[in-house]
Amino acid sequence: MIMSTDGLPDTSPTATPWAVAFDLDDTLAESFQPPSDEMMHRLSALLKQLPLAIVSGAKFERIKSEVLDRLVDEPHISNLFILADNAAQGYTYSDTGWKLAYTNEFTLAEQTHIETIIRDIVAENDILGPNPKYQPELLKDPTQLRYAALGLDALEDDKKNWDPDMSKRRKLQKLLHARLPECEVSIGGKTTIDITRKGINKAFGIKWLSERLGFAPSEMLYIGDALYEGGNDAVVIPTGIQTRSVTSPSDTAKIIDELLAR
Ligand SMILES: [Mg+2]
Repeated sequence: MIMSTDGLPDTSPTATPWAVAFDLDDTLAESFQPPSDEMMHRLSALLKQLPLAIVSGAKFERIKSEVLDRLVDEPHISNLFILADNAAQGYTYSDTGWKLAYTNEFTLAEQTHIETIIRDIVAENDILGPNPKYQPELLKDPTQLRYAALGLDALEDDKKNWDPDMSKRRKLQKLLHARLPECEVSIGGKTTIDITRKGINKAFGIKWLSERLGFAPSEMLYIGDALYEGGNDAVVIPTGIQTRSVTSPSDTAKIIDELLAR
């Protein structure tokens, strides 16, 4: 077993995987940023060899504008699968463009209930501390509610320094889970908590991909930065998919280069 840079065990593939699934934020790109041109070139090159998937807490619209619209001339684009909002929605490509393959949504009443619980818990537990430099944002969609403790535009260093030992996010996750047993509550990134319907998470996405492609999860590889306990990538581990843990897009670039060299 190989240990990755952040000390998490990798189940490194001994044979070339038949498909590769990537997390987006902090894996293919810095969080809430588009992937670099170099990363896009690597994705294009790998897409010629294997089916790929992006399995992300991000919304499809963001993935489309930041990734897919930069692959419009890619002849192997139908080899790419998009599982957005922590796999609450799946998208596939056909001749006419990107199509919604499935969706799992909250009702309006459920969204309002979740929003109330989040606001109550944050207020009751002083998660942000006194005089916060940034204001939290709640991104509300039928498929997912995403709480960003420092909003979306905080500086990368401020995000890194906000909760380096994960104690704030773990506390928030635990409190939310106790009050929202009908939901999946996961740590999405350095400052974010993601809430989807029960059973809707990245593992659901991997099982969907496995059925769609006809490969067992163990024949596929997942690359993500949140494979730690409670992280939104960790839920894929029980599916049996091979995993590689990264701490930044530069780690991911190295793994893609390894795969391209096979
Ligand atoms: Mg991530």
